[in-house]
Amino acid sequence: MGDQSLLDRASAAAAEHANVTVSINPATLEKLGHVDNTDLTRLPAMFAAARSAQALWAQQSFAERASHIKKMRDYIVANAEELASIVARDNGKSRVDALATEVLPCALACNWYMKNAAKVLKPKSLGVSSILFFNKRSQVMHVPMGVVGIISPWNYPLSIPFGELVMGLMAGNAIMLKVAAQTPLVGKAIEAIVAAGELPVGLFHHVVGSGGAVSTAFFKHRIDKLFFTGSVATGKQLMAQAAENLTPLSLELGGNDPMIVLADADLERAANGAAWAGYQNAGQSCGGVARIYVDRRVHDQFVTLLAEKTRKMRHGVDTDFELEMGAMTTHNQLKVVERHVQDALDKGARIAAQSSAKGPTPGYFFPATLLTNVHDDMLTMKEETFGPVMAVVPFDSEEEAIRKANNSDLGLTSSVWTRNQAKGKAIAARLETGVTAINDHLYTHGLSETPWGGWKLSGIGRTHVAHGLAEMTHTKVINWDILPAKRNLWWFPFSKHTHQALLAALRFAFPRSLGEYVGSSLKLTPYLLKKMFTSWK
Ligand code: NAP
Repeated sequence: MGDQSLLDRASAAAAEHANVTVSINPATLEKLGHVDNTDLTRLPAMFAAARSAQALWAQQSFAERASHIKKMRDYIVANAEELASIVARDNGKSRVDALATEVLPCALACNWYMKNAAKVLKPKSLGVSSILFFNKRSQVMHVPMGVVGIISPWNYPLSIPFGELVMGLMAGNAIMLKVAAQTPLVGKAIEAIVAAGELPVGLFHHVVGSGGAVSTAFFKHRIDKLFFTGSVATGKQLMAQAAENLTPLSLELGGNDPMIVLADADLERAANGAAWAGYQNAGQSCGGVARIYVDRRVHDQFVTLLAEKTRKMRHGVDTDFELEMGAMTTHNQLKVVERHVQDALDKGARIAAQSSAKGPTPGYFFPATLLTNVHDDMLTMKEETFGPVMAVVPFDSEEEAIRKANNSDLGLTSSVWTRNQAKGKAIAARLETGVTAINDHLYTHGLSETPWGGWKLSGIGRTHVAHGLAEMTHTKVINWDILPAKRNLWWFPFSKHTHQALLAALRFAFPRSLGEYVGSSLKLTPYLLKKMFTSWK
């Protein structure tokens, strides 16, 4: 099927229903169904309902909130196969992929937040930093933001928004969710999971419509926080919109991840890991392997191994689970990948290996592709290709590998492959990315206990675990006196005595000798007690 006819078919289906979002299976191009768009004039009522429900929800204990999340987890476990199928059909990935990287992480997320949110978010007493503040005590607490908006992409249409939804709810917020237009049936599946949780009415709203219109409406109605996952371009637009009212924003954006393979690496493991983390989800992973830097001494051996794995891979329509890679999700993304690969070939790159089609491939397919002879001026090295394409480059020194890996505007995740853990950790510490795995890549997104987020244009803020929970709340300090003092040392009135007492306080806190410690204490104590416990007359 030609490119234009693919486009025609998709846009005709969409045009048929102006007020609906149509779902098309990207692997088969079958129309799967449609979801009614939300009438955005209903948003004021939705926000009002969310605000009322949230006020009560915030009063509930963590254990009460967790009981709703547990019901969602049980629903996910009971309906795992159906959920994986919905994701696979809506997004184009295989059902094995959907089960491993979408359904399983959702159940794990429920479990982690149910069990740990209280520990992370409960009020905590802070220590006294200096004896000068002996009468002061502080507590830090996390107050829910209010109504949190989540806008999510199509590449992990279930696990990304659902994980954030659980974080937001456990932190005491109401949620307004907008999933990507390409995966509306997954949005409906999230509705079903949330319904199983039997949340208070009004606490959760699924808003269906185009990203720009929905986000504008969110800002207009003063959403209290926006969690956005998607492209750098959209992230920048949202940041500009958020600036008007300084709406708190978390941005989880693109990546162009480097993988560094040292000479002592287990090359079989490295090749297997690269194949999974580069081609999984048809390469449409923000934290997938894109650029591979390999020590020249093992470069050819590594390329041979990875080429073998690439050739063994089968891409196609998932009929019997027997394939490694499904379709790309959108026609636009397919065109980006084709353009990047053509650009690389035009500039001298070589295709070392590609995957083979299994059966007919009517949809948006691109084979898993391994490129060699690449250089830094190629688009695939400079920009996010976001497809099943990896490029291998040799290096002569670890310094060169680190420099090349860091030579990107994006800094989401990275990896170092070596048998020497100490060396791996030392290199990892120098890579400018939010996550660096040693002898692994990408999978920590599904790990409930590690924070996720990028440096540079890959985003702002962190999602997941304690960091993600904290981003769903305002950090608030409560500070008080333990003895009923009338005044602090630094309050009015001021005098020469105040000046001397403050100097004595400084020297008492940071004495240069024992004599200074004793002397300053003797000067400070009577003045301090007098100032604290007598009235200003
Ligand atoms: P996208 O075009 O930015 O869309 C993401 C979401 O934003 C969709 O729900 C979309 O809605 C909405 N949107 C689009 N334009 C908007 C606008 N002007 N204002 C407000 N919302 C808007 O990104 P994508 O192509 O779906 O996702 C792929 C990108 O996400 C890649 O760059 C990938 O690396 C990144 N990503 C990052 C992470 C991470 O954790 N850092 C994870 C996954 C993906 P519509 O669908 O209705 O347009």
